[in-house]
Amino acid sequence: MDAPDPTASAPVDLLVTGAELVVTMDDDRRELAGGWVACRDGFVAAVGSASDATPDAARVVRADGCLVTPGLVNTHHHIYQNLTRAYLPATASTLFDWLTTLYPRWALLDEEASYLSAWVGLAELAMGGCTTSTDHLYVHPAGGGDLLAAEIEAARDLGMRFHPTRGSMSLSRKDGGLPPDSVVQDDDTILAASEEAVARHHDRAPGAMVRVALAPCSPFSVTPDLMRRTAELAERLDVRLHTHLAEDPDEDRFCLDRFGRRPIEHFEDCGWGSDRAWVAHCIYPNEAEVARMGGWGTGVAHCPSSNMMIGGGGIAPVAEYRAAGVPVGLGCDGSASTDCASLWLEARGALLLGRQRGGPTSCTARDALEIGTRGSAACLGRLGELGVLAPGAASDLVAWRLDGLAFAGALTDPVEALLRCGPTRAHHTIVAGRPVIEDGELRATGVGDILARHRLAAARLQGVDL
Ligand SMILES: [Zn+2]
Repeated sequence: MDAPDPTASAPVDLLVTGAELVVTMDDDRRELAGGWVACRDGFVAAVGSASDATPDAARVVRADGCLVTPGLVNTHHHIYQNLTRAYLPATASTLFDWLTTLYPRWALLDEEASYLSAWVGLAELAMGGCTTSTDHLYVHPAGGGDLLAAEIEAARDLGMRFHPTRGSMSLSRKDGGLPPDSVVQDDDTILAASEEAVARHHDRAPGAMVRVALAPCSPFSVTPDLMRRTAELAERLDVRLHTHLAEDPDEDRFCLDRFGRRPIEHFEDCGWGSDRAWVAHCIYPNEAEVARMGGWGTGVAHCPSSNMMIGGGGIAPVAEYRAAGVPVGLGCDGSASTDCASLWLEARGALLLGRQRGGPTSCTARDALEIGTRGSAACLGRLGELGVLAPGAASDLVAWRLDGLAFAGALTDPVEALLRCGPTRAHHTIVAGRPVIEDGELRATGVGDILARHRLAAARLQGVDL
């Protein structure tokens, strides 16, 4: 897509109008009563309030009674894990036990399973108000085919903006790591596949629908050498870096035993302390490490449901991170955590956990919404382009209905109402000016067929007879 021409006078492609309130999340945090958003060529052409004249539009979508926000941006997920949701043999496990139970199941992934899981996962995300999602796909079994290309195809078929990461694992059990041999690759194979994935799929243009990042899985599943070489490759290719970090007390013990350093020290030692990287979870930093993260500008994907599901009381210190200048985004994580991919739910979780940790004045609905929009966009290196509704930004937005039983009586602040009431889901989800969800329904057809095929693929992975 070309950059927008703000002086163009032709009718816009799409006008979303009649909202109760448009929350722009722009640099001035403007909120426009009775507002509207005009979209042209995939970008926001203009925004306005009830007193501003609306432009002519080829198509009008009504948002009466709705709160309109920028589309939510998902900064951490493992979409393929929806093939093993709520897998009973691992539901009462620690993180490490959960992983070792499921690695052999994920070794059965193939292109069909990757496509189906991405289609289901991204459609589910759109229902929850997400317009851009990343995916951390770190299992690439031998003979499984091109899993990354398969999930990118699903995102294209649905019209979702997608930031898949070429994940990797190289430290198997025989070398002192956690995963079995069946799901790891050697460092050279991983680096060659990473470079090829960027060459094939990474779009650097403004408004890009697909961007690829590089993502060794975690300190306990990749070699330090792979971490270092991946950071060098990302620098050379000018793409972003992603990994799990400081997710669990077992990880602290693993890193101290094996590397003689805490996870964030190990991360720094591998050359990752930079604003090119964003990391998932980061629940267990000490005070000095929070400050170092802020100095680097390394982002954190906060995954509230995951914090609670992993358990043990750990909550990412979001307020401290933000005060230290760490970009904090929102993530739903894979089925290790929630088995539910709703960023509305995660934004509500961020609000609740923020208050649980810091008291009633420490986190508002606007804070949580900012994390899921601007904060997430910063994690992906696209602040100003995603997560805001301002001329020139991508025209990704969500209209949320504020009526019905769940919102009755909420009269004084639609933003607080959005995250305190509910449960709810998106009324319209618009990506690059095109509805993916309209009037609460998925626009793509064939859901029944996809679900039937997904059920078969899930049964094959889980070894379940249907
Ligand atoms: Zn994860």
